[in-house]
Amino acid sequence: MSQQSVNTILSGPQVKQRPLSVAILGAGAAGLCMAIKLRNAGIDNITILEKGPSVGGTWRDNTYPGSGCDVPSMLYSYSFEPKADWSRKFAGQAEIVDYFEGVARKYGLMPHIRFNTEVTEARFDEEAGLWRIRTATGEEFAANVLVSGVGQLNRPAFPKIDGLDSFKGAAFHSARWDHAVDLAGKNVAVIGNGASAIQFVPEIAPKTGKLTIFQRTPNWCVPKADRPFTEREKKLFRAFPLLVRAQRWLTWIMLERNFLAFTQGSWFGKLFEKASKKELEAHIKDPELRRKLTPDYPAGCKRILLTNDWFPALARPNVDVETSHIARVSENAVVTEDGVSHPADVIIYATGFESTDFLAPMKVVGRGNADLNEVWSRGAEAHRGVAVAGFPNFFMLYGPNTNLGHNSIIFMIECQANYITQCVQALQNGKLRYIDVRKEAMAEFNAALQKDMQKTVWAAGCSSWYKTADGKVTNNWSSFTARYWWQMRHPDFAEYALVGN
Ligand SMILES: Cc1cc2nc3c(=O)[nH]c(=O)nc-3n(C[C@H](O)[C@H](O)[C@H](O)COP(=O)(O)OP(=O)(O)OC[C@H]3O[C@@H](n4cnc5c(N)ncnc54)[C@H](O)[C@@H]3O)c2cc1C
Repeated sequence: MSQQSVNTILSGPQVKQRPLSVAILGAGAAGLCMAIKLRNAGIDNITILEKGPSVGGTWRDNTYPGSGCDVPSMLYSYSFEPKADWSRKFAGQAEIVDYFEGVARKYGLMPHIRFNTEVTEARFDEEAGLWRIRTATGEEFAANVLVSGVGQLNRPAFPKIDGLDSFKGAAFHSARWDHAVDLAGKNVAVIGNGASAIQFVPEIAPKTGKLTIFQRTPNWCVPKADRPFTEREKKLFRAFPLLVRAQRWLTWIMLERNFLAFTQGSWFGKLFEKASKKELEAHIKDPELRRKLTPDYPAGCKRILLTNDWFPALARPNVDVETSHIARVSENAVVTEDGVSHPADVIIYATGFESTDFLAPMKVVGRGNADLNEVWSRGAEAHRGVAVAGFPNFFMLYGPNTNLGHNSIIFMIECQANYITQCVQALQNGKLRYIDVRKEAMAEFNAALQKDMQKTVWAAGCSSWYKTADGKVTNNWSSFTARYWWQMRHPDFAEYALVGN
């Protein structure tokens, strides 16, 4: 298609519009943003299919004590819906969920959402240019466009340990916290020490009897510049909305700078290591514990954690950090490979999420019966994180290689929602049956991305939720978010096959 006809597609109004249906999967930050952008563009035939009973996505699910953001809330919110009265710099889970609920109501999205509706399969009908969608209860939907907003961190990962089934006490994942379990005075085993554990351990440690953290790899941890906003500040933010915007952009620039830490051998990364070691030395006096808590990989390779109370919690007399690997679980204990039995009344899995599986267990079938899970068997990849060749009219938010270690995912999601909206407009205005990213365009994009990735700390030797067991970094974006924004301003339709009716 010539550039002139591509431009005609986007210059909308003079072309007769046709009604076009869009199914969005998930009512988290991404799904809601997508629906708002589409409705703003006049595309209103939208259904959001949401597995859970309410909006908010992973924030709805992660109700563990201390759950909260590690990106300042002024930036962890939509650019088009700033909030002047965040209670603190880094909001907690309940306030974040309230924010998303408020947005969903304000933008009239609730009537578009089908809650408790888990999509299990989607098949592209090439003749009709329709996605045929099936839910867990056997319901069927059809839509011209399918947008996935199922997130990267929505399915908890459980460890595979012998004897887990024999455990007689309570056991739950941090992302599905069982608030009915009273931890007071109990022996609690926490398996894992990542971003969630560092938030809930300091909250529960004072009430548990003995708390043992089973650690595989220590983390680089730096102080979190968190505090409540004063009433005066909130008053000022309400009176001068420009101040909220200024805070947002200032925060974005500051965080953007942190990407410098993710280049292998970076001096900036060394600053994080220095800050983390200083914290460790300030709070942990026992040399053996310090040794256990000192990482042997470059800062940033795994997520750098922000916390003010993790090291003090680990220094408590009732908290132990165990580095011997877990051999098995018995009826009432966790047994480590050194033969020691650690009594446990409760086991908490802080073992993260099935992050590299992306859309699985959902079955997504594109042209020529191609199954996306098979196409991705050697690691997920997409064109600019949003489209996959052979899967027409299918888009993803927070898809492969769009996660960040240094800035707000909401920023990335907005870039994607803007881009996808323009693709949907092209379909509508051009009266197209489908658009499908070209294989060569997608391959070229991914080759360049993986080449960039080799310069980052993520490609270094540590294991993390950013990469597959084979070592391919499938989750993270390889550069500054500004670069992503630049690339995502407008789709280049020369990268797509545009197929008419
Ligand atoms: C504890 C925690 C803290 C985090 N902190 C930060 C942070 O500080 N900064 C940051 O930028 N990011 C953070 N993240 C990452 C976070 O996942 C994203 O910022 C954001 O939530 C992504 O939104 P989403 O809508 O893409 O995905 P999610 O929030 O995961 O929402 C996905 C939605 O899709 C639904 N769904 C899933 N499968 C199906 C299906 N088959 N059918 C129908 N519906 C389905 C789910 O129920 C869920 O509601 C954090 C994540 C966690 C878990």
